[in-house]
Amino acid sequence: MSSKGKSGKTGLIFFPAFDWAISPTHPEREERLLYTRDQIFEEGLMDLPQIDEYKPRLAEMLDIARVHFCVPDVESQITEAHLIAAGSTLTLADALERGEIRNGFALVRPPGHHSMRVVHGNRGFCNINNMAVLVEYLRTKYGHKRIAVIDTDVHHGDGTQEIFWHDPDVLCISFHQDGHTLYPGTGFVNEMGGPQALARTLNIPLPPGTTDEGIHYVLDRLILPVLEEFKPDLILNSAGQDNHYTDPLANMRFSANGYARLNEKLAPDICVLEGGYAVETALPYVNTGIIQAMAGLDYSHLKEPDFVPGRFVQSEQMNREIEATVAQVQRLWDDKDELVKDALQGLGDFYRRKKRIFYDTDMINESQEETVRLCPNCSGYMTISSQAQRGYGILNSAFCVSIPRKACSSCREDAKEEYEEHIDDRRFGYVCMQDKDRDTFKFHNNMTHTQKSY
Ligand SMILES: [Zn+2]
Ligand SMILES: [Zn+2]
Repeated sequence: MSSKGKSGKTGLIFFPAFDWAISPTHPEREERLLYTRDQIFEEGLMDLPQIDEYKPRLAEMLDIARVHFCVPDVESQITEAHLIAAGSTLTLADALERGEIRNGFALVRPPGHHSMRVVHGNRGFCNINNMAVLVEYLRTKYGHKRIAVIDTDVHHGDGTQEIFWHDPDVLCISFHQDGHTLYPGTGFVNEMGGPQALARTLNIPLPPGTTDEGIHYVLDRLILPVLEEFKPDLILNSAGQDNHYTDPLANMRFSANGYARLNEKLAPDICVLEGGYAVETALPYVNTGIIQAMAGLDYSHLKEPDFVPGRFVQSEQMNREIEATVAQVQRLWDDKDELVKDALQGLGDFYRRKKRIFYDTDMINESQEETVRLCPNCSGYMTISSQAQRGYGILNSAFCVSIPRKACSSCREDAKEEYEEHIDDRRFGYVCMQDKDRDTFKFHNNMTHTQKSY
């Protein structure tokens, strides 16, 4: 929003990641972007003066460590493809901030929105959360305060939600096929953020079979009015395309034209590709539609070869279900300040939660205990103790400390003490500390007694 109007151009980055795949027949493979590229050239989009293609760059280790606690270290959780996918979003951020583009779309893989703060391996095809890397970069490098992330992938954006769970300045909205019927099985209305940030996480689970009508109802009645009130510096779209009616992994009935209209109304500053596995029947059309909408081009002729208007109609019952969910989420949003006040009243100096996280791709079970200092003078430091298991063996364990932006001196001191106390603590293989104020990351290996920093 801040950069709108400086230039009329839409920046694009394509990165199909030819050498990265989970397995050769896995749906997350490079063909996902090759058909899109053909379609975009066929439409002549790349020749238009409104569109500029950018070359991707590598994200740096600190760009990743600003978000994630990778165990045992960043290097062991990434490939070059991950650094390029994340780095592409940063290239577009820089172009936006320089005023070269009015918006941008990173068509990259591997995707990222299932990656959480601590990373022991791959979850839902994701290791590194590209969107979260972009958010933290925009805040650190350009001083943005309030950012909205709208996750339009069919799967719940559980990683992004988890990373910004305690942060009232990052509004995370995800609509998705409901978790009773789809991976990752979360994203219900009652998941709404930590005590200091209640209702800054909003989830809109939708019934299988939801059409353009239902998704635009959610957008018009809930998401756009909430954004109007939240007034973010920037709107970012985790643009998954698996809500499409041909997607093989999900059951929604969204069209390419519906996606284009969504992006026209949402007007995101940057879109980052997430999932979408109908390589030939959805991605080329949906991506083309998003690009046309972002560039202010006419997309009215855009349609899939087999799409007939009126083909998908929601039942009355489905309409009522969606209306009820929207009303329920709207109430949470309206009550957000009260919710926070009530929640904090019942708590002491610290808030603790235990979590179990399953990494479906790598078959890892992680258990975590997260502690947040509820500080009257700053947003409070956080510690996470994490144990990951694969099969019967312990894989890795880590104690992680995070110092927030604008930390007060007592939180800073206490956080440093927590870090020091866990050095050479035999219960943990690794100790790490992320300092968002000073933008540094350090890390101690308790087995080899060596230290590293980014
Ligand atoms: Zn997805
Ligand atoms: Zn503090």
